[in-house]
Amino acid sequence: MTSKQAPRVGFVSLGCPKALVDSERILTQLRAEGYAISPSYDDADLVVVNTCGFIDAAVEESLETIGEALAENGKVIVTGCLGAREDGAMVRNAHPNVLAVTGPHAYEEVMHAVHDHLPPLHDPFLDLVPPQGIRLTPRHYAYLKISEGCNHRCTFCIIPQLRGDLVSRPIGEVMTEAENLVKAGVKELLVVSQDTSAYGLDLKYTTDFWGGRPLKTRFLDLARALGELGVWVRMHYVYPYPHVDEVIPLMAEGKILPYLDIPFQHASPRILKAMKRPASSENVLARIKAWRDVCPDLVIRSTFIVGFPGETEEDFQDLLDFLDEAQIDRAGCFKYSPVEGAPANELEGAVPEDVKEERWHRFMAHQARISEARLEARVGKRMTVLVDEIDEEGAIARSWADAPEIDGNVFIDGATHLEPGQFVEVEITEYGEHDLWGVLVTD
Ligand code: SF4
Repeated sequence: MTSKQAPRVGFVSLGCPKALVDSERILTQLRAEGYAISPSYDDADLVVVNTCGFIDAAVEESLETIGEALAENGKVIVTGCLGAREDGAMVRNAHPNVLAVTGPHAYEEVMHAVHDHLPPLHDPFLDLVPPQGIRLTPRHYAYLKISEGCNHRCTFCIIPQLRGDLVSRPIGEVMTEAENLVKAGVKELLVVSQDTSAYGLDLKYTTDFWGGRPLKTRFLDLARALGELGVWVRMHYVYPYPHVDEVIPLMAEGKILPYLDIPFQHASPRILKAMKRPASSENVLARIKAWRDVCPDLVIRSTFIVGFPGETEEDFQDLLDFLDEAQIDRAGCFKYSPVEGAPANELEGAVPEDVKEERWHRFMAHQARISEARLEARVGKRMTVLVDEIDEEGAIARSWADAPEIDGNVFIDGATHLEPGQFVEVEITEYGEHDLWGVLVTD
């Protein structure tokens, strides 16, 4: 991997507050996928112009802005109300060189056009959003990025070199964005950052305002405020710090989803030390147990690295034992690979590729057994699920236990009449290694 620059997108937003909400939605997605937002035309790799086409003056202003962006930058994607006029012909006739034209509320189409003309950089060690999420983000869920950068110095990671130390967004700004996403129809907010539990540390947890109300820029206040929006709130990239304990009761009360994505990466104390991970494995098991005592529904998803330099069979066995004891519901696993510029490259004891491969397969098989047993326990239970898509066989949905793209699904065979973004109640009838099947509850 090389430390490439993030692709840069310029953005011009014209028109009414509804267009502004669309712009915020697209900007949020761009930022969550690792694009940088450029304040000037010449510094951007491409420009998105969100237009207004309501009255003649607005049409004129929009067409002029597109012309200016083409002259200054050359690569322009047009969206918004003017894009819908005459099926895009009004824009194309005036400016045949635009890369794509879409209408209002066309988040997915705009993101597709951006991906086609300016592909995102994706690396599983660097990115917050899964690669599948980059291809298509349905409008009913959205990633909410609360900070950039990281204060830790894990030896396999170059994020602090690339993105610097933690810089949190003030809570008022984050909450306004979250509120706008909910107004735009988002039903699930996925909170992402490099270290969600450290949110606000750099700002000394300063007080900010949301709708005139004072809130501290810190994890607990954010969780509480997001929990008031009436949508699903899912926390990613949380470390098991003591103050996370305070958020678990909000999960038990149904304010935010009882789901934590904690990137443990390993469990052997020796390897965690060599990785310089922020939270050691000591007390982690006790902490997870205490969390589950408060909130029995809590689902934990994690990611792990196998084959880190110096990892012995004993270390690897520690990791498998940890999965059993912690009863990790969902886990992703990467085989260690050196990242250009990462301190771990200097460590001795490189693990041969065939050993990494073998451990990876053992890890996946082991985790699949745990996941399957945990899913089996859900048979006969009722769950609220959010429908993601409909295919010819029925509805593909998720429960609180599944983040989009990275976890499993709840399939509802035959329910082709449902719509993406709809919440429904199901009774679970079958289970597999990663997925569940259910029937609609009609009473
Ligand atoms: S916590 Fe470690 S792995 Fe995560 S971004 Fe920070 S330095 Fe990288």
